[in-house]
Amino acid sequence: MYDVVVVGAGIEGSATAYNLAKNGQKTLLLEQFPLPHSRGSSHGQSRITRVEYGEDDHYAVMMKEGGKLWLSLERESGTSLLVNCGCLSVSKQGNSYMKATISSLSRNGIKYDILTPGDLRDRYPMLSLPPDYVGVFDYSGGVLRADKALRAFQTVLILVLYWKEKKDGEFSAGRFPAFRNIRENGGVYALPSLEYPGHAKVCYHDGPETDPDSRDMADTGRILSTMKSYVREHLPSLQDPPSIVEPCMYTNTPDKQFILDHHPIHRNIIIGAGFSGHGFKLAPVVGKILSELAMDKTPSYDLTPCRIDRFSSTKARM
Ligand SMILES: Cc1cc2nc3c(=O)[nH]c(=O)nc-3n(C[C@H](O)[C@H](O)[C@H](O)COP(=O)(O)OP(=O)(O)OC[C@H]3O[C@@H](n4cnc5c(N)ncnc54)[C@H](O)[C@@H]3O)c2cc1C
Repeated sequence: MYDVVVVGAGIEGSATAYNLAKNGQKTLLLEQFPLPHSRGSSHGQSRITRVEYGEDDHYAVMMKEGGKLWLSLERESGTSLLVNCGCLSVSKQGNSYMKATISSLSRNGIKYDILTPGDLRDRYPMLSLPPDYVGVFDYSGGVLRADKALRAFQTVLILVLYWKEKKDGEFSAGRFPAFRNIRENGGVYALPSLEYPGHAKVCYHDGPETDPDSRDMADTGRILSTMKSYVREHLPSLQDPPSIVEPCMYTNTPDKQFILDHHPIHRNIIIGAGFSGHGFKLAPVVGKILSELAMDKTPSYDLTPCRIDRFSSTKARM
């Protein structure tokens, strides 16, 4: 018998199980594939992180805690997870995304630099940008070491469960499937250490719709040629044939906001989904929120933008 069963050991499920275990919940973390795997959304060596979130201030507020929680996971796991290198955004002058970025940085009191086309040329000679491009450098941004972060959550989860087992004798490796699953697949302790590479990652966030059960059929040829020509044009110091090609998938909601809510009919089922290509950086907070919902506690954040009934299709079924 478990207090909570978490389905899916991606970054969000692992962060949720970690929070539940730390809150003394008997937790089972179920994953369909052997760990680690590259068939979901949480693999790879890096993810962008930043506090600034355009017009979506509720995520900026969450990210202020998110940064602290990543640092605490670093301490608990003894692993460096966060590279605090800042984040540069570039676009045509007057672009609405850029305006929203600058306004969010100001509203949230985050240090930033506005860069003219000349500044961009001086500071980033490796970039080849159109002459009317401007930039904003966000000092809160950086890179999360994604694979290591996922492993860190799972490792600390195991250690918490170990500790609990030793303390009150309720758990044993033989009787606790979550523990066994993670260990059996050799994913957590037996991983070779992946050092953060110095090479560039170029990401294309606009692939075709894919059935997760037949993702290997996805045609990546067109995307690859688009990316190669992007690299030739804007990153001329790189060679355009990639050294590693990694197709990834993620789930988008129509409004690109997360779903963090109880199931509309079965209240004992909690849904964390639709992270719409920006959920990694927020995983420590998402894990905290989902664990609070699972424990029937008042969530730490206003979850109105993440409610499942904002979609008419879910309303109709209630
Ligand atoms: C290429 C790429 C770049 C990205 N860049 C960024 C970025 O820079 N910054 C950022 O913040 N975010 C970024 N994201 C988004 C972020 O990585 C995702 O939002 C996040 O990884 C989602 O995690 P998840 O746990 O919800 O999903 P997943 O990692 O897919 O985990 C879900 C898990 O559930 C398992 N599962 C599914 N069904 C079942 C079942 N029935 N039984 C058991 N297990 C099941 C799956 O196998 C999978 O392991 C990026 C995503 C991609 C793909």
